[in-house]
Amino acid sequence: MQTPVMRQYFGAKEQHPDCLMFCRVGDFYELFYDDAILVARLLQLTLTARDREKKQPMCGVPWHSAEAYLQKLLRMGYKIALLEQVEDPKLTKTIVKRDVTRVLTPGTSIDPGMEASDSCWLASLSVLGKGIGLALMDLSTGEFRATEFAGDGAWVAATDELGRVKPVELLYPGGGLKGAATLEFGGASEDASGAFEGIRTKTALDEWVFTADYALPMVRNHFKVHSLDGMGLGGHEAAGVAAGAMLHYLRATKQGALEHVDGVRFYERSNCLELDAVSVRNLELVEPLFSGETVQTTLFYTLDACCTPMGKRLLRATLLRPASGLREIAARLEAVGEAAGDLRKREGLRRSMDNVLDLERLLGRVALDSAGPREVLSLAGTIGALPGVRAAVREFGSARWRALAEQLDALEDLHEMIALAIAEDAPVNLADGGVIRAGVDAELDELRELSRSGRQALVAIEERERQRTGIGSLKVRFNTVFGYYLEVTKANAKSVPADYERKQTLVNAERFTTPELKEYEAKILTAQERSGEIERRLFHELRRHLLGGAPRMREAARKIAEIDLLACFSHLAALRGWVKPVVEESSVLEFLGARHPVVERRMEESGVGRFMPNSLHLDAVGGPSIALITGPNMGGKSTYLRQAALLVIMAQCGSFVPADSMRVGLVDRIYTRIGASDNVARGRSTFMVEMTETAAILNTATAKSLVLLDEMGRGTATYDGLSLAWATVEHMHDRIGARTLFATHYHELTLLAEKLARLKNLRVTAKETAGGIVFLHTVETGPASKSYGIEVARLAGLPAQVIGRAREVLKVHERAETQQIREASAPEPASLQMTMFTPLSQRIVDKLAEVDVDEMTPREALNLLAELQREL
Ligand code: ADP
Repeated sequence: MQTPVMRQYFGAKEQHPDCLMFCRVGDFYELFYDDAILVARLLQLTLTARDREKKQPMCGVPWHSAEAYLQKLLRMGYKIALLEQVEDPKLTKTIVKRDVTRVLTPGTSIDPGMEASDSCWLASLSVLGKGIGLALMDLSTGEFRATEFAGDGAWVAATDELGRVKPVELLYPGGGLKGAATLEFGGASEDASGAFEGIRTKTALDEWVFTADYALPMVRNHFKVHSLDGMGLGGHEAAGVAAGAMLHYLRATKQGALEHVDGVRFYERSNCLELDAVSVRNLELVEPLFSGETVQTTLFYTLDACCTPMGKRLLRATLLRPASGLREIAARLEAVGEAAGDLRKREGLRRSMDNVLDLERLLGRVALDSAGPREVLSLAGTIGALPGVRAAVREFGSARWRALAEQLDALEDLHEMIALAIAEDAPVNLADGGVIRAGVDAELDELRELSRSGRQALVAIEERERQRTGIGSLKVRFNTVFGYYLEVTKANAKSVPADYERKQTLVNAERFTTPELKEYEAKILTAQERSGEIERRLFHELRRHLLGGAPRMREAARKIAEIDLLACFSHLAALRGWVKPVVEESSVLEFLGARHPVVERRMEESGVGRFMPNSLHLDAVGGPSIALITGPNMGGKSTYLRQAALLVIMAQCGSFVPADSMRVGLVDRIYTRIGASDNVARGRSTFMVEMTETAAILNTATAKSLVLLDEMGRGTATYDGLSLAWATVEHMHDRIGARTLFATHYHELTLLAEKLARLKNLRVTAKETAGGIVFLHTVETGPASKSYGIEVARLAGLPAQVIGRAREVLKVHERAETQQIREASAPEPASLQMTMFTPLSQRIVDKLAEVDVDEMTPREALNLLAELQREL
């Protein structure tokens, strides 16, 4: 038979089938059945049972220490419902009522262990007609934005954006998404499932939630607006629907007041230098390529000299979305240049941000009602620093600094509001009292005076009673169960006067009360209770007033982030001697004496070696537009490729760059196809992934793009790979004209330079020394020497005969190959291109050379013929 608790449990479980149900029983949260088995395993708890037959497994965690357990499960991607007692057990004679008071999910709960620079995104994806809407929210800061994708590439673009943002939880219409995707976007659903794989928590909502009729009014009502146009959502229904569905979910999971979510911003992906998920990963912009590796390999780590959490988050966001407008970039570079050139002012500015804490997250905690008095004080401290920041910004003269100083609202009124209300030494918890300043509320002051004088009276009573009874150790004490009492040791109990009433007997002491003591007790306790009520009321009033200023605080936080980011770029520019890049409306990519920022910094930190500066000149119009880079493994090819992309990204973010000089015509998009990627884990072959990525590049790159291709064709047979690489270079050259860096181990490709006017060969150099081969890491014009492999083998100690023989074989191959490739690289006939390499003929020739025709029977000859034909 089910007990009443279990009935409540099953009722709740039915409503939240996808959640682990934490059921509050007394001082514990209990889990039952499958939940219990799973959680016991995940958190290594002891599994017990409710019944003797052990048919009802159960485990539990103490209520007061549940937080850490909950966070662990959330980090693993689970959702949790809290089935709480919603009545005071003392006040009910029947079974205590229980309700699900909150649903915790990875995307809606704030992980206290989260890094300041991290964002915790909840995503929502809608499909409306031919459009796909995507909304993103970070509940910890209140950041809420939405965008939309339409047309043929919509599905790929949407999944790509998800891959870049990496939300911790995704909301989608149950059953509707995959179907719609296949229907509307031509079978792209396989890609979709791939993009979703990285997202651990996927939450399907009812399809009606994602309808315009339901979701759009949801948005309007939440923000109390008549139309969505003001937020840029006009005409973007799919984006609006995604946003509405998200608000629905936040309500359904009872996330409390969402005052800090004060608007949703429509954003266009194309308003920036576009970086797809593959490039973000390959270039290690914000995360190391292989999880578990140190973050020091990331560009974010190298560039993070921000003083505030807001600045750090903006830096991360900016690296993922560098600017694409000349005016914006120029304004940032000018500001950075000015501050980089003035140590005193720059340091003044950076120091002014020392006391700026995480304004957005503090505000988030106030809005979610989880901020105590101390956090409100921290908020005040942060706001209090704003005028200083503004004054420091005013020291500068360039347009961007002047605009920021103008726009930064120093929020003096909000600071005053807090400073006047909250005592400087307020405790962590509101319940501890002493939160509200004296002088704020007359009644509160009076009550405090009352309990203070009451307590003084008790001290007087203690003294008097000691005299009266002659018991020197007599004490007046207090505890929450018995209130105030007089305590006397056992030995002195006989000296107690007759008017003492016995309250409690302990092993060593007796406790008493008197009518006088009771009277004071009542006075003090009522006064305290009442003042507690007043403090709570005033604190909540303050909270409400503060939230009225939430939009201003969020705006100030955004400005601080911008100021901090520019200060960070200036600091790096000055400290590391970086130069201002020239970003212009041209088709050039040129740098001289340039370094890879991350590798250089790591070399400096480890004290091993020195980064060898190198240069590049590409021009999509005047040429050369393609650089083909050859040279030994470990020679520095990948580093050179990545460096080019990182410098472009830094320049378009508004940062100075590690080079003697740099000039770049605006890049619209960076494409990378670099090395083996971790997609193999998804069950797609490396080669398939490589070709998919290459296809994306060839289909969408423009003359304004920057394309990096590293070791293309490695994943398949040599001749397949070489042929594909060959054709790809030709296509890039003839049809696209993007600035392209192509690193390859196919030495044969260097011959393309003879045919393609805008292709140039570069090589990374190495030198033989007595101690072995030394990589010089310099980049020079011209193809690499063909025989470096053999040289390396010789240095490795291969026997001289083998080396000698290898040289001979190489010569033969080289001669034959060069000839054939020359022929094949003539444009016609196309079919010849497949026979340009020798293997086929060579194998046949070898076989023929082996046989002694005179010794063959006609039958053997026929068999051989058949065998040779099979080789074709
Ligand atoms: P490849 O792609 O040719 O195999 P990598 O780019 O991976 O070579 O570089 C190999 C190693 O050489 C890396 O560890 C890198 O740190 C170092 N390296 C690359 N370029 C330079 C340079 N310009 N100066 C100093 N060291 C470099």
